[in-house]
Amino acid sequence: MPDEKPDPERPPRQTAQLSLGKELLALAKGLSTTFSEALKPNLTVQYPEDKSPRSERYRGRHYLRRYENGLERCIGCELCAAACPVGCILVVAAENTPEHRVSPGERYAKVYEINMLRCIFCGYCEEACPVQAIVLGPEYELADDSREKFVYTKEKLLEPDPRDVAREVDGR
Ligand code: SF4
Ligand code: SF4
Repeated sequence: MPDEKPDPERPPRQTAQLSLGKELLALAKGLSTTFSEALKPNLTVQYPEDKSPRSERYRGRHYLRRYENGLERCIGCELCAAACPVGCILVVAAENTPEHRVSPGERYAKVYEINMLRCIFCGYCEEACPVQAIVLGPEYELADDSREKFVYTKEKLLEPDPRDVAREVDGR
């Protein structure tokens, strides 16, 4: 019986079987990933009705805070404006008087504005404030239809007087 010579162009049968085995294994692995993901609960958030939770450290829209007695925390020191790397905060301070007391300090912010189009939400203003008056909250829906509306005035930034809120809640 003549000796059969192996064809150099044809891969040995063992190698072909090995490669087929690897491909089947990869296919099974891929399908198992697909099926396991398909069985997991749906993660789609029905925005805007539902909102995904923000991290506690999330830095969104700014607020100017008050004390429980309704006085504004801001003392018009302008440290936040000095700390702001893009210069988007404008503070114009005025003196408190016994007849017109706005904050516990000597001065208060007569004008307080933030140009939100320039803000980079770095949080430096919040860190610089000695009385925790300016804070960045969790709100991120800031879209608007004109550039002017992105200049947030003190009226827009100031949180409601807690005494008014309590009255509303009590229905007084
Ligand atoms: S978050 Fe940063 S950029 Fe925005 S107002 Fe504060 S300091 Fe300025
Ligand atoms: S927000 Fe704070 S840092 Fe800025 S002016 Fe008022 S008190 Fe000073």
